[in-house]
Amino acid sequence: MDRTYLIKPALDEEYPVIDFGKGVYLYDMEGKKYLDGASGAVTANIGHGVEEIIQAMKKQAGQVSFVYRSQFTSRPAEELAEKIAMAMPGDLNWSFFVNSGSEATETAMKIAIQYWQEKGRSMKTKILSRWVSYHGITLGALSMSGHPGRRSRFIPLLADFPVISPPYCYRCPFNKEPSSCGLECAEELDLAIRRIGADSIAAFIAEPVVGASGGAITPPKGYYKAIRRICDEHGILFIADEVMTGFGRTGKMLALEHWEVTPDIVSLGKGMGAGYAPIAAALVSEKVMLPIRNGSGTIMSGHTLSANPQSCAAALAVMEYLEKNKVLSRVEENGVYLRNLLEKMKASYPFIGNIRGMGLLLGVEFVADPATKTSFPRSLNFTGSIVKLAQEAGLLLYPAAAGLDGVSGDAVILSPPLTINKRELEELVRLFRRVLDKAGREL
Ligand code: PLP
Repeated sequence: MDRTYLIKPALDEEYPVIDFGKGVYLYDMEGKKYLDGASGAVTANIGHGVEEIIQAMKKQAGQVSFVYRSQFTSRPAEELAEKIAMAMPGDLNWSFFVNSGSEATETAMKIAIQYWQEKGRSMKTKILSRWVSYHGITLGALSMSGHPGRRSRFIPLLADFPVISPPYCYRCPFNKEPSSCGLECAEELDLAIRRIGADSIAAFIAEPVVGASGGAITPPKGYYKAIRRICDEHGILFIADEVMTGFGRTGKMLALEHWEVTPDIVSLGKGMGAGYAPIAAALVSEKVMLPIRNGSGTIMSGHTLSANPQSCAAALAVMEYLEKNKVLSRVEENGVYLRNLLEKMKASYPFIGNIRGMGLLLGVEFVADPATKTSFPRSLNFTGSIVKLAQEAGLLLYPAAAGLDGVSGDAVILSPPLTINKRELEELVRLFRRVLDKAGREL
């Protein structure tokens, strides 16, 4: 093909064309099989070609695929919102459906600002966030994202920038060891709020487990309890960006449930439609909804395709599938199984610096020197090469940046469909070893 019209991530590169998917595997037009070790982009949470979802979508398409949100609601949208309210912790009872994780985060931020306006506190407009983070590619979400590589071209359009360090224990920003950790990374939020002034701050936003910009970075014990306390003490809302972690990825509907912390607003995406349809949501607590319901009575946001019946039907079928097959109850066990397999192989590969994560969201950080944790030079593009070698070997991995500046450092995420079985996990690790063996020889 000397001429092409589809804008792909690398414009002039040839990408395999996918023919079909079944379970944890994808097959291209040449008949090559890929084990989807990344669920695409941590999205295909129940695997490919699931008959129940296909049937539910067919049925909905036969009834109605689109109605406009200011004129109608639809059965799947109503049922999905109710089912989500039942499944979520605390008083997170209200769903605003959108089409992507970026839209979900932007909607969450707007709702936080509106909440304070409805309470007569319209000066509270700032949203605080952390470096080494990713909340989305649209301008509001990007403003909050601590991912310099994705921000740099658009700085003039960005409203703000992150203000605190990430809870990145492998490279502790405060040079602490686990034994001497005093949760300085959480206390930094308290200091930032005091410096900036709580009167101007609407909310703090964070990913419970840092995904794309860090490679499954999990916080130290007590971190989110401290964050919740600091937000409450200063009267600012806590927004959890669970676009990657939500809907069962770590074994619970929300990752924050592991730490018994309930946020005020949540953004969801990716696994919600599990790749069958574009759907995402801002989940809002009763606490936040109350002044809005008593005030203007409407949320100032929305998209033409918000609460699209076809997408809602897909997400509803995904939820029913998760429940019927008790998928979440196996995630923790399979995550530990995968992690143990990875830990066992670590000693054979001196360039593996750190293995981390929760449930079936695991990260492997690569370093040039494990003793000093020195990263590979950026020009080497180690992550890119690993992901490419893996794809050649029939294994899909998700590339992540790592490193405190958010541009240097190499990591990959292993996040297979939550429905993967132990034999397939062993196959994943066998393929991964083959890739790392080759990387050790060639890179
Ligand atoms: N928030 C988090 C935590 C994400 O990981 C992502 C995507 O990777 C987004 C938001 C943006 O989601 P989307 O790509 O669907 O717009």
